[in-house]
Amino acid sequence: MSSELIDGKAIAAEMRSRISNEIAALNNASSRPCLATVVIGDDPSAASYARSQAKHAASVGLECRRVELAADSDMATALKTIESLNADDSVSGIILQMPVPAGLNGFALQQAIAPVKDVEGVGPANFGLLAMGSEALVPCTAAAAFACLNSTGVDLRGLEAVVVGRSVIVGKPIAMLLLSAHATVTQCHTRTRDLISHTRRAEILVVAAGVARLIGAEHVSPGAIVIDVGMHRIVEDAPDGTRKTGTVGDVRFEEVAPMARAITPVPGGVGPVTVAMLLANTVKAYRRSLET
Ligand code: NAD
Repeated sequence: MSSELIDGKAIAAEMRSRISNEIAALNNASSRPCLATVVIGDDPSAASYARSQAKHAASVGLECRRVELAADSDMATALKTIESLNADDSVSGIILQMPVPAGLNGFALQQAIAPVKDVEGVGPANFGLLAMGSEALVPCTAAAAFACLNSTGVDLRGLEAVVVGRSVIVGKPIAMLLLSAHATVTQCHTRTRDLISHTRRAEILVVAAGVARLIGAEHVSPGAIVIDVGMHRIVEDAPDGTRKTGTVGDVRFEEVAPMARAITPVPGGVGPVTVAMLLANTVKAYRRSLET
């Protein structure tokens, strides 16, 4: 079977080009979309996410405002910062870089972001809207996985879809998107008995388990579409004795790709689309703010 490689980089490039055109067309508008990124303290991964998001925002002409707070900030200060961004009409979307310093409650801070500016879709309001099949700011990774799936042109109505993973920001919203598209959805997790018996039924298999190379050929039915959300940095000893670093997914790509109808690679699949989705959600939040 020749399988289709779902090219996340190409999907993301097309999205960025659309967003860039949309922002350029706002030339004379009285306001423009703006993403506020809140960085508290000096965690290197939070700083690196913020830099990467700013770079991607700049590439489409989207304003990105970095708001920094000291590592020893207290909850009251952090909440006040988020509340002032909530009230600021020039800010379309807010993202709180995680992790926050140990003394702060990152979950509570994320919940303080106004639902209309919650461009990561991490709050209960957007989760609820999504569950109800209503217009929502969908968590970026879930929306990216769904965009990768839709890029194949598959009609999801009535298909057997299996999601491995039930996290609030990835597994559950993916399952909700699939349900809204009329797939028949099974959600698997760490307590699922006999994972293979479920995954082998899947015509659509979305894996967001956070376990490197969990899913192999034995889990997959020939002709399935496989979306691998997992992302893991690995260091391995190569046969020639050298140490190799790389990124792998939750799926053993080399085993599964030959039997799948379509599959996302890692890297180059869901990851690049996730970053583009944050920009798309910011522009969506901006457009919706003009309607209210
Ligand atoms: P998580 O750890 O919060 O959730 C993992 C879920 O998988 C849990 O619900 C758990 O029950 C389930 N699970 C774990 N092991 C399992 C097993 N053996 N069998 C069945 N279910 C199992 O992780 P997350 O935040 O949902 O992220 C999932 C993966 O997606 C991670 O690899 C993460 O790095 C990746 N991720 C990628 C992007 C991206 O942009 N591509 C963004 C976010 C997360």
